[in-house]
Amino acid sequence: MAQIIDGKALAAKVKAKVTSQVQALQAQGVRPCLAVLLAGDTPASAAYVRGKEKDCAECGIESRVLRLPEQVAQSELLAVLESLAADPAVHGILVQLPLPAQIDEQTVINAIPPEKDVDGFTAENVGRLMIGEDCFAPCTPAGVIEMIRSTGVPMAGRRAVVLGRSNIVGKPAALLLLRENATVTICHSRTEDLAEICRQADILVAAVGRAGFVPGDMVKPGAVVIDVGINRGADGKLHGDVDFAAACETAAFVSPVPGGVGLMTRAMLLVNTLRAARRAAGV
Ligand code: NDP
Repeated sequence: MAQIIDGKALAAKVKAKVTSQVQALQAQGVRPCLAVLLAGDTPASAAYVRGKEKDCAECGIESRVLRLPEQVAQSELLAVLESLAADPAVHGILVQLPLPAQIDEQTVINAIPPEKDVDGFTAENVGRLMIGEDCFAPCTPAGVIEMIRSTGVPMAGRRAVVLGRSNIVGKPAALLLLRENATVTICHSRTEDLAEICRQADILVAAVGRAGFVPGDMVKPGAVVIDVGINRGADGKLHGDVDFAAACETAAFVSPVPGGVGLMTRAMLLVNTLRAARRAAGV
């Protein structure tokens, strides 16, 4: 029977560490500050932003939420970003995605200065991750790595399989695993023999966005399984990409949904914001 990787407990540990480091920084006259830009008012995005405000408050990080209307022009959004970029009191900037249809997402993201890009989505941070330089790693894959690390299972030399190749999860997760010296395979919708590849994975990261995509017989005995998927079922509940009960029978460690990667994603945003503030302060 697998051990459950407790995202809640792990995130609480990360947040406690961030809180004490925020206090230390504040004693030096710097209060970390995260600015969140929200265009439009889709309920899901609004809920995510409220969660970020709450997390920041819990750790002593200042948060500023800039709410813009759904119809906002790209030029206006870029002007707001420019003022945040120039504001020395703002250490981290996050643009809540998705943006309204009239806005070009990558243009807006790339307007965030790399040193304030706490989501790690700018082309510069992505490039730095790719070439193995110091960077802000995107929060979800960074959380995935921390969850694997928490198991004590070494990543170096192990066969890691990432299901999904999105820019925000799959690709950066694969790069971070590579940085940890895992041997990495990325699978996607055009992959042949996907089940067979998964069965070879010592570390399996599922980020497909389909409930129950990974049945128990796709999991190698003794594997570490990290479930990134968040899928709302017909029952109104959240489900991961992995058949959790079945994976528990085979794997050594499994992360649950909810209570897994989602909480660590939120915690890693706080880590990145603190890091941006420390860097700006030169400590
Ligand atoms: P995307 O839709 O951007 O990417 C999904 C990936 O899965 C694609 O690469 C796609 O392949 C692949 N895929 C889809 N269907 C199949 C299939 N039948 N066989 C093999 N591969 C397939 O999703 P995201 O990466 O943004 O998110 C993935 C999941 O993670 C979602 O459930 C999302 O809600 C969740 N998520 C969770 C977060 C958290 O904090 N826990 C944060 C972000 C996302 P292809 O490229 O070929 O189309």
